[in-house]
Amino acid sequence: MSTPTTIMQAKTCTIKRVLVDAKVEITPPSYAYGYWRTTPQERQRNLEQWVKEFQDFLRDHRSQDANILSVVPVYEKRCSACDKEYEAFMYADTPDGVATAEHPAIHEGCASCGALKEKGGG
Ligand SMILES: [Zn+2]
Repeated sequence: MSTPTTIMQAKTCTIKRVLVDAKVEITPPSYAYGYWRTTPQERQRNLEQWVKEFQDFLRDHRSQDANILSVVPVYEKRCSACDKEYEAFMYADTPDGVATAEHPAIHEGCASCGALKEKGGG
């Protein structure tokens, strides 16, 4: 009878910051969002109204209002082992990583591929 020789070769990973997109963000004049006077729901309504008016302005470009436009890079945290978006999951010191009463989940790793996050990784 053979002896089980399951050796847990822990796969590890680091978290990479990957540029996945870029978008343009516009900061409208402050009256458009009234940050201090309104609730988030009111701000969203005000901004949606402002965007509609801004689009009308772009169509007939008469306004002299200063509008700040910024290019915003969109980053995603990716697992270096599987290259999927990194989502943390807690693993235990058991052959399958599943926590038991004696072995609680104490290691953070990638929820997609099970690689354990290396120390010091983002
Ligand atoms: Zn992974």
